[in-house]
Amino acid sequence: MKIIATREIDDLGRVLIPIELRREKMWTKGDLLTFYKCDNIIIIDVCEKAKVPICTVCGRVGGEMLCDDCTKVRIEEIGGA
Ligand SMILES: [Zn+2]
Repeated sequence: MKIIATREIDDLGRVLIPIELRREKMWTKGDLLTFYKCDNIIIIDVCEKAKVPICTVCGRVGGEMLCDDCTKVRIEEIGGA
C-alpha cells in the first residue's frame, strides 16, 4: 500500500482529498462517497456520481439542455439577437 498524502481533520471533521487523487479517480463536487471498513483499514469509493448538467449538442458540462456556446450558435441560426 502506498501513501498518497497526509491531511489534517478540521474542527468539523472534514478532510481535503488530494487533488491528484480526485483527478485520477475523476471525483468531482457532489459525488457521493462511501466509506468501507475492513479490520483497521478504511476504503473510500464513489457510490454515486454527481448529477451534472451536460449539453445535449457538444457534451460539455453546463446548461440544462445547451451550453452557453451552443445556445449562442442556436440563437444565431434562428436569427435572434
Ligand atoms: Zn454545447
